[in-house]
Formats: sequence, C-alpha cells, structure tokens
Amino acid sequence: MLKNKKKIDEESLNLLYHHLFFSVLSSVMVGLVISFFLRHNFHAYKVVWLVLVLFISSIRVAASLIYKKMGSPGSAHFYIIFIAGLILSSLMWGFSGFILLSSDLLENMMLSVCIMGIAVGGTTSLSSDRKLLFIFLLLLLFPFATSLFLFESELYNLMGFLLIFFFILISIVGFRLNKMVQENLQYKEKHKNTMEKLAKSENRFRSIFEHAPVGIFYYNKNLKINEFNEEFAYILDTTRKDLTNFNLKQLKNDEVLNAIKNALENKTGQYEGAYTSLLSGRKIWILMVCSPLYNDDNTISGAVGIVQNRTDVQLIEEKVRHLAYHDSLTGLPNRLLLKDRLEKAQSSSVRHKHFGALLFLDLDNFKNINDTLGHHIGDLILKETAERLSMILRDEDTVARIGGDEFVIILPRLHREPESSTVAVSLVSDKIHKVLSEPFKHMDNTLYTSTSIGVTIFSSDDTNTDTLMKNADTAMYEAKRAGRSRTHYFKEEMNVSMEKRLAMENHLRLAIGRNELIPYFQPIYNMITNSIDGAETLLRWKHPEMGMIAPADFIPLAEETNLIIPIGNWLIEEVCRTLADWMRKFPEKLEYISINISVKQLQKDNFVETIEKNIKKFNIPPHLLVFEITENILIGNFKKISRKISELREKGIRFALDDFGTGYSSLTYLKKLKVDIIKIDRSFIMDIVNDKHDTALVSAILSIGDKFQMEVIAEGVEDLNQIEQLISMGCSYFQGYYYSRPIPSGEFEKMIAG
Ligand code: C2E
Ligand code: CA
Ligand code: CA
Repeated sequence: MLKNKKKIDEESLNLLYHHLFFSVLSSVMVGLVISFFLRHNFHAYKVVWLVLVLFISSIRVAASLIYKKMGSPGSAHFYIIFIAGLILSSLMWGFSGFILLSSDLLENMMLSVCIMGIAVGGTTSLSSDRKLLFIFLLLLLFPFATSLFLFESELYNLMGFLLIFFFILISIVGFRLNKMVQENLQYKEKHKNTMEKLAKSENRFRSIFEHAPVGIFYYNKNLKINEFNEEFAYILDTTRKDLTNFNLKQLKNDEVLNAIKNALENKTGQYEGAYTSLLSGRKIWILMVCSPLYNDDNTISGAVGIVQNRTDVQLIEEKVRHLAYHDSLTGLPNRLLLKDRLEKAQSSSVRHKHFGALLFLDLDNFKNINDTLGHHIGDLILKETAERLSMILRDEDTVARIGGDEFVIILPRLHREPESSTVAVSLVSDKIHKVLSEPFKHMDNTLYTSTSIGVTIFSSDDTNTDTLMKNADTAMYEAKRAGRSRTHYFKEEMNVSMEKRLAMENHLRLAIGRNELIPYFQPIYNMITNSIDGAETLLRWKHPEMGMIAPADFIPLAEETNLIIPIGNWLIEEVCRTLADWMRKFPEKLEYISINISVKQLQKDNFVETIEKNIKKFNIPPHLLVFEITENILIGNFKKISRKISELREKGIRFALDDFGTGYSSLTYLKKLKVDIIKIDRSFIMDIVNDKHDTALVSAILSIGDKFQMEVIAEGVEDLNQIEQLISMGCSYFQGYYYSRPIPSGEFEKMIAG
C-alpha cells in the first residue's frame, strides 16, 4: 500500500514537471505581452520584475528539462526544487499588482484577467498536487487582491472581492480536478500492477508449458491442435511441422478420440492404455486427461490435453505382474495363474457344455538326474521340457509348472461327449510321452527321462479347483506306481486306494512298536562246500487283521514315507542281536547274514555310525555282515554313497549288488565301486534252461564276477535243472525255493543246527 502511494506521488511529480514547460512558457508570454502593453509607463522596477520572472522561469524550464533528461526520477529533491520555483513564480505574479497596476482602469482590468488566466492555467497544470495548487492560488490571488483593495475605490474593491470569490471557485474546481487526477493515477497504477502480474504469471505459465515433463496440447472446437509443447511432439515421436494444425478427427483410436471430444462437451476426458502414434507409428502406453477451456462468457472455447508417456511404468508393472504369475525358470504360468485359468476353463465348460481336462505330469527319475549331474543340468531339462510341452499344445491350452519337476496342463476345450473327450486327451498324452522321451542332449551328456501323467476330466464347476488338482495328482501317483511312463485317468476308486494307502501308512508307523515286523531268513547255499553259507534277511509284516503282508506291498510305501529309516535301523539291530545269539550257539557255522539296505538309509549321514554302534554293542565280527544294495542306489549320489561303502568295507563289512542285470549294470560303476558279491536277478534264472539270451547274460555276469573276484549268487533257483545248468556254467552259490523259502529265525536255526 505504502509502495503504491509512493508510486502515485512519483507519478504526480512526473505530471507536475510534464505540465511545467508549457505553464512557464505561458506565464513568460503573458509577462512579455503585459510588459509590451505597459511599455509607455516605463519604470526600472518593472524591468527588474520582468527580468526576475524570466530568470525564475528559465530556471524552472531548465529544471524541467533536466528532470526529463534524468528519466523522470521522481525524487524528493526535484519536488523541493519544484515547490521553490512555484512559490517564487506565484509570488512574482501575486505581487505583480504592486508593481504593474497603474491608474488606468482598463489596463488594470486586463492585468486582473491575465492573473485569472494564469490561475486557471496553473490550476490545470497543478491539479495533481492539492497542496501545491492551494499554495499557488493563495500566493497568486491574495497579494494581487490586496493590491486592488489598496486603490480604495468601490470598483477596485468589487474587483478584489470578485478575485477572492474566484479564488474560492477555482480552488473547488482545482480540488475536484485533483480528485479526478488522483483517481486516474490510482487506476493507472492498479492497471500497471495488474499488467505486471499478468505478465509474470504468463511467464511462469510459459515456462511450465515449455518445460513440463508431460505433453500439453490445446485444441479448438473443430478439434484442430492450435498449440502444443515440445514434450508432446517428443512423446509422439513426430515433428512440430506435422503437429501444427493437425486435425484430431483423423485419430483412429476411438477411445482416445472420445476422451478428446468429451472435454468439448464440458466433461473431463480420460484415457489410459496402449496408443500407436498416427504420425510416427510409435507404440506407447499413455495416460491422457483432457479438460475444457472457457471464454469470458463461460462458453467453451476449446480444450487442453495433458499426455503422459507411461510406457516404462507399464513395462515395469507388466514385469511385476508376470513375475507374480509365472515361474521364473521356465516362464510358464505358476500355481496362482493356473488356478485362475482352471476356474475359467471350468466355467467355460459349463457355458459351452463341453468337457475339459486337467493333466498332472511328473518327470520320472528327474531327482536322480538333478542329484547326479547337478541343478544346472536339472534346470536345463526343466526348461526344455517346458519348451517341448508348449510346442505341442494349442494356444488356448495352459501349461504351468507348479514346482520341482511337476507340470500341469489344462485342456479347456474337448468334446461334448465323455468318450470322445477321453480319446482326445489320450492323443495329447501320447504326444507328451513321445516328445518327452526324446533324449535331452547337453554337451557330452545324453539324458533320458519319461513322464507319468495323471488325468482328470471335468464338465462343470461343481468340483473345486483344489479337488481337481488333488484328483489329477492321485491319478499321476497311480501312474507312477503302475510302473512310470504311463497315463492314468482319475477314478473315484483311486481316492479309495489313496485312503487305503494312508491307513496303511498309519499302521506301518505303529508296526515296530507293536512287534508286527518279523525278520525271515532265506538260506544261501554253497555248492563247493555243499553247505549253507548264510542267509538273506527278508522282512515280513504280520498284521493282526490283514494277515501276513509281503515286502513288495509295504517296502515301497516305507521308502516313500521315509519310514524305511526307523524300520531299517530296527532290523539291523534285530539281525545283529540274532547273529550274536547264533554265534554263541554254533560258532563257525555261519559265514554271513545279508540285509537289504535301502537308498534312503544309505543317504542318512549317520548310517556308518549306526552300523558301528550295533557291531560294538553285539560284538559282531564285521565280516559276518553283508549289505545288499541295488545298482540304482548308485545313480543318485555316487560319490557320497561310494565313500560310505568304502568306509564300511574297510571295517570288514561286505557288500552285495542285488538284482544284478535289471538296472543300469554299468561296468564303470562296478569298477569304481568295489563290492564283494553279485546277485543275479531271479528273472534271468527263471528260463535259464531254455532261453539262450538268459544263458549268455548269466555267463557274462559269471565271468565279470570271476574277473573282479566277486562271489556270484544265483537268486530264485526253483528246480534242479536250473542248478545243473548253472553249475555247468561255473556258478557255485544259490538261493531259492529249491533250497528253502524265507523262514522265521527259529526254523533257520534248526536248519543250521541240523
Ligand atoms: P530281494 O532282495 O530281491 O529278495 C529276494 C526276493 O525273492 C524275496 O522276496 C524272496 O522271497 C524271493 N525269492 C527267493 N527265492 C525265490 C524263488 O525261488 N522263487 C520266487 N518266486 N521268489 C523267490 P520277498 O521276501 O517278497 O522280498 C521282496 C523284496 O522286498 C526283496 O527283494 C527286497 O528288495 C525287499 N525287501 C525285503 N526285505 C527287506 C528289508 O528288510 N529291507 C529292504 N530295504 N528291502 C527288503
Ligand atoms: Ca535282496
Ligand atoms: Ca534280489
């Protein structure tokens, strides 16, 4: 406010100086004219007066010129100079009556009129400053009126009074004028301030417009772009030239065009999504907001659009979304997305009244590959499996990886009849078996896997997704049990067998504590000494309700559930106890007792210690123990397991390679891993008399045994012909029903004693 007042004072000083030149000029002119008319009545003091008037006037003119030259500084000095000049010149004219008035009435009247004229002129030029105006009029008119009163004549008195009356009038006029001038000045100042503010905000706005990190474009009611910033052109990857006057009607994207048009209908238009620039073809993801712009009368003049390039954000969002719903190794959908797709497939099957299928896949032997060759190779196999599966399936099918080597496939659209749908699934599953049985080649390794597939078929959404998954999983499990590399369809009975399995598992858990497990012994006969060398321990489970259960029915379950570890530990202790007893009863008669050892037991870190503990506890000479292992044990973790075997062999315990010929039978393994005994599988002995292949194979095994200096035992000999044939081939050790079935310890004891 104060600043404003100062500004206005400055302005009024400018006005004072602005008018000064002409008012001084006119007073000089008046002075000169009066002097000219009064020349006949010449007096020296009149000349002095005129010189003084001219002198003061020229000083004032000079001051006015300097003021202008200095660029109208509006300073206090000039104000004082102005006042001084004004006072002096008004005094000069005010007292001119005492100097210039004569006895000639006409001349005096003329002088009075001149004084009034000067008063009028001064009033206009001083109208910006009330105080100065008042001083001026006072100093001009009162001395002059006084000089008139001095004539002491009625006429002069009247003229004096008229002059005073004039003073009042002209003061009032002057003050009114002053008010108008002041108002005018205030208005001017306000206007100037407003304009300055406007310019500032315009500047600020320009700067935002030009440098904003978003694209801004203005368009009129005809959808023509009339202004836009650089960023806008940059986002659309086009040039200023192409965009200038571009008609938005040409846009191909209706959603975008609608958002733009909405703003012209007094709504806010918004669009977020993919956008292909019409001018450059650039594909981006944009967020655009359009708002209307108004005229003074509130009608819409056009609109402004703000465009943000969100391509990066969108890409990151997509990536995050992808990560959340996909398996990072194979890029396939994960369990979360699978569930969602399965729900969709179910509702689609309801809508279209067709069947769909859910396939559960598990790679056979994957764990072995992973353990033997490392996770790196395992990962490669999983990736390639994913690729192969994706290749043979249709786009609408889903392949997901839900962990480890488990893959799940949804075939959402089969047929309307269950039979043809099943046929369609079996075609797909055949394809899967085929494509996954092709060897995986990696560097020097050629690896083979196969798949077990469980299938469940659905045609409604009655069954929830979790149950469907469980059913397919159960079917897959059945496929594995049935011998791998096959497809099984889920049947309700499977659930029953699953439940049975669970019940069995619970019973088995309790079997040790309830003394239901019994070791049986099957003698092994030595042809050379014609006597029993020892026996193989074979486990039996005598269940109070289910009766005698064969190992084939519970050992695999025990292995799967890891119950084989407590069972195995218990058996080793039990055998050692029995062995200690037999050693006391008939020393020298037994060469060894063999025990079947599962891979799960060997994998346990404390296996060696467990054995040592038992040997010590029962004081068993280690050479009396033979551990039977299958070749397949070695595939997984050859190094670790062969180390344990060597450790135990160093202590004197012997090892037998069981079921020889059925597994990998790699001679490399045999060479690296020293065992003491080879047991030829029963399947090669069965037909040894008739089958040439079996004969060849068995004789090969016998010669390997000979070379590596290992005992070779023929398992499952049931008749004399087999024995004679085997003897003729050089076999000396036999085990089989011909000699004895597996028998309880008591019976075996009698057999040796006898
Ligand atoms: P295996 O180690 O190959 O045992 C030999 C199997 O052949 C035994 O079956 C035995 O009864 C049977 N056998 C022996 N001679 C003949 C014959 O002349 N004819 C016929 N048909 N069979 C004969 P079993 O006792 O049913 O055992 C089956 C399998 O269960 C065993 O095969 C072994 O792998 C496993 N097993 C048995 N007990 C144990 C154990 O305590 N621990 C572990 N880990 N596995 C065991
Ligand atoms: Ca065995
Ligand atoms: Ca065997």
